[in-house]
Amino acid sequence: MPTCSRCDRLVDSQAVSCPHCGNQLKAFGHPGITLHQATDTTYLCDRCTYHEDDSCNFPQRPYAKTCTLFHDKSLPLVDESQFSPPKYGGIRGFQFWLSTNRGLVIIALIVIISVLVAVT
Ligand code: SF4
Ligand SMILES: [Zn+2]
Repeated sequence: MPTCSRCDRLVDSQAVSCPHCGNQLKAFGHPGITLHQATDTTYLCDRCTYHEDDSCNFPQRPYAKTCTLFHDKSLPLVDESQFSPPKYGGIRGFQFWLSTNRGLVIIALIVIISVLVAVT
């Protein structure tokens, strides 16, 4: 459960504003748009990927105190585990291999059946 950046108390992850201090937690009143907030003494841009790679053109850069696009530069931009195949072993691994190589298996079966028919 996340904490409010102003009062540091636990808040619901879907809360649009902090029920304790009223701090705005989501942008445009939408629970799906997180409004990242800096502490009193820092700016978000100092820790942002898009400031570091110079791709941000927001007018509040480099002194953003709140931002919807902030991405912590210490974290990977894309979760690479989403793109790597799951590690299965045994029968589940074989089933996964069959499901991902279905075309190859069908061609191999056709070749094998053709050879058997030609030989007999
Ligand atoms: S995306 Fe937001 S936090 Fe990041 S550099 Fe731009 S204004 Fe700053
Ligand atoms: Zn709060």
